[in-house]
Amino acid sequence: MTHHDLGLLNGVKKLIIDGKHVDGLEGRTFETRNPATGKLLATIAEGGAGDIDLAVAAARRAFEGAWSKYTPFQRQECILNFADLIDRHFEEFSLLDTLDMGAPITFTRSRRQRAIGMLRFYAGMCTTIQGGTLPNSLPGDVFSYTLKEPVGVVGAITPWNAPLTSTIWKIGPVLATGCTVVLKPAEDAPLTALRLGELALEAGIPPGVINVVPGYGHTAGAALAAHMDVDKVAFTGSEVTGRKVIEASKGNIKRLMLELGGKSPDIVFADADLDKAVPGTAMGIFGNSGQVCSAGSRLLIERSIYDEFISRVSVFAKALRVGNGMDSDTQIGPVVSAKQMERVRSYIDIGIGEGATVSTGGSQMFEDSLSAGYFIAPTVLRDVDYRMRIAQEEIFGPVVTAIPFDTDEEAVRIANSTVFGLGSGVWTRDGAKAHTTAKAIRSGTVWINCYGTLDPVVPFGGYKMSGYGRESGIGHVDEYLQTKAVVMQNA
Ligand code: NAD
Repeated sequence: MTHHDLGLLNGVKKLIIDGKHVDGLEGRTFETRNPATGKLLATIAEGGAGDIDLAVAAARRAFEGAWSKYTPFQRQECILNFADLIDRHFEEFSLLDTLDMGAPITFTRSRRQRAIGMLRFYAGMCTTIQGGTLPNSLPGDVFSYTLKEPVGVVGAITPWNAPLTSTIWKIGPVLATGCTVVLKPAEDAPLTALRLGELALEAGIPPGVINVVPGYGHTAGAALAAHMDVDKVAFTGSEVTGRKVIEASKGNIKRLMLELGGKSPDIVFADADLDKAVPGTAMGIFGNSGQVCSAGSRLLIERSIYDEFISRVSVFAKALRVGNGMDSDTQIGPVVSAKQMERVRSYIDIGIGEGATVSTGGSQMFEDSLSAGYFIAPTVLRDVDYRMRIAQEEIFGPVVTAIPFDTDEEAVRIANSTVFGLGSGVWTRDGAKAHTTAKAIRSGTVWINCYGTLDPVVPFGGYKMSGYGRESGIGHVDEYLQTKAVVMQNA
């Protein structure tokens, strides 16, 4: 299958509201481009506040109507059908993500388990949702129990860096709990969410359960976050936008789940197995061109191995094959847009201005086939002090800042020195040191002698300004449920 088979340029891609493809009310469109070539990929109907109103109304009708009658087993069947369909179309999804946001096709193809396994995990959760009967301490013959009920209409706002998996993380718990959703995918990569919306209907999920309204953040996104008939917003994106979502949610005190940015430390102790730590830490930041919320963007290296480790990581980084993600040899694709490329380049300049040294990379790549796209060479910045902006602010690109440390305590202090707390890594052969360090780091995930692995049973989310709530794991569905207490005294 090539991207021509996807027919992306055949007409405008429409919104999906109440099971129907519709144009935006204002008749506007926007374009999505292939970041490897800068070429037009598709024209998308642009949703605005009015379309969000219609989508929320459809989601509410579905929530109170047909969908509310589905038993847990029936919802499970829907999810399993949906997962099977996505599985059958998996190559198409891999292509869509690669074309829309640039990740190498080998990378997007490797997400099969992460996407479909995740959805099947949520299918399993449908029949596990249960309340409890409560011991009575009240006078008289009292019987109390709890019911777990879906929170209602969910607004899901997603970023562009992992369209398939981040959308499934939103849809899975919605379907498992009996909620309904209005998805607002990122304007830079909306194609996958639209295709998921179509397949959901094919899988027998009733119209209105999953609505997809692509559009800009300050219009469609803001309208969804502020909507008075949305019960909960599940947001993944930057910390700056997360604050706006918090503000917007105040009108009807809606529930929030925020998966925000990170500046994750990856700590290499001198006793680590360096043959594993070099590729492990390098791919922990350069994989997906550093556009991963939990990317190990701060490399904390014990001073006795600082020079050796930086030179080995730099050799590894320089050897990575950067190119168009459609080429199956490519290991690192472009960054998502010209805007993102400028942001990354400006951070490299800021770092150099702050006194960091470029060990490898450090610039945009202009080699023949790369000049039209948004390619940044995998970059290692050394001699970084933990207080520098490049060591504190999220860059979201293929740039790692290497910081030396002398003691275990100092490593932890530096690890905890940012406002974020999403991911972290520890590389050591010393089991006690690994667990002591893991306990001391304030982050939602600690990877020991590996980096970035995700498993449906393992919860994922942030400490501090990386947000709150956990996706994945058996607790995820609780975020989409509320507890009703029923107390009865015999008449
Ligand atoms: P972003 O915050 O710019 O956009 C995210 C989404 O929010 C998009 O759909 C956007 O249209 C929408 N949006 C923008 N302004 C809005 C507003 N005022 N109201 C409502 N919605 C609005 O982030 P991005 O550039 O798309 O993605 C990169 C960021 O996402 C990084 O900071 C990264 O760390 C974070 N991220 C976090 C996780 C996680 O799970 N913690 C995962 C992936 C990405």
